[in-house]
Amino acid sequence: TPERTVRVRIVRLQKKFLAVFADDLGEEQRVNAMRRDFIANVSHELKTPIAAIGLLSEAVLEAAGEPEIVSGFAKKLKKESRRLGELSRDIIQLSEAQSTLQPESREPIHLRAVLRTEVEAHRDFASQNGVELVLTESRDEDDAKAMTLGRPALIGTVIANLLSNAIRHSSEGGRVGIGIEVAQRNCMITVSDQGEGIAPEHLPRIFERFYRVDPSRSRDIGGTGLGLSIARHTMWAHGGDIDVWSQPGVGSTFTLTFPLYEERSGVKDAKPK
Ligand code: ADP
Repeated sequence: TPERTVRVRIVRLQKKFLAVFADDLGEEQRVNAMRRDFIANVSHELKTPIAAIGLLSEAVLEAAGEPEIVSGFAKKLKKESRRLGELSRDIIQLSEAQSTLQPESREPIHLRAVLRTEVEAHRDFASQNGVELVLTESRDEDDAKAMTLGRPALIGTVIANLLSNAIRHSSEGGRVGIGIEVAQRNCMITVSDQGEGIAPEHLPRIFERFYRVDPSRSRDIGGTGLGLSIARHTMWAHGGDIDVWSQPGVGSTFTLTFPLYEERSGVKDAKPK
């Protein structure tokens, strides 16, 4: 009967509504759990330098009159406060990367130009570490095509992170190769080093926030353990992704994949700013 049909329809609709609602609820709980997790991580990471700064300042006060001891403590104070600065900068960057990109804040990005700027900015750091940075040239028409839509400054941060990691994990005399390649729908940027590499058991976890393969060593060579997590969220926000290949003793290659600008917008002759 028509009545029965209507009733069945209503029941179906109710079920659908409940399913959607339950999904939302599950999603909300997951987001809340992630938020709690993040705050717990952050407070744990911040505690160490904050406690150290407190103790060191007291030690400086107590050692007043003994210049050599004071200067030793002051050096450590400087190191810990720098670490605190890096941590807060990275935490802010991560939360920015995790928020969705507003369409009006996106602009066409010439990836080759961003890459060039970042490679130049890292030349000094590389030569201080005895590492050579080699940016492979590509065909002019590929360079012209290598465009995506997003925030250039955020993409610059991702590339800077990969370069700094590659340099920091290379040994003296090492070479870091940087390349850009255009495929049909995507554009790929690769950063390859001949450094220590990453063991397979660590590889799937390096994009997690605060994950470090060797925490004690990371403290020495710098780094907050947030760089790759920021990179991954930024790439996702741009409709892209980040991947890694690595073999201990051979090196690592990180690949950034971007959707091509003309593919996404349907605009063939995009005129970047
Ligand atoms: P960090 O601030 O410690 O560099 P990242 O999130 O950038 O944090 O990287 C996470 C971990 O992945 C690092 O602590 C390091 O152990 C490992 N890692 C990242 N890049 C490389 C690389 N190019 N070679 C070897 N290990 C790397």
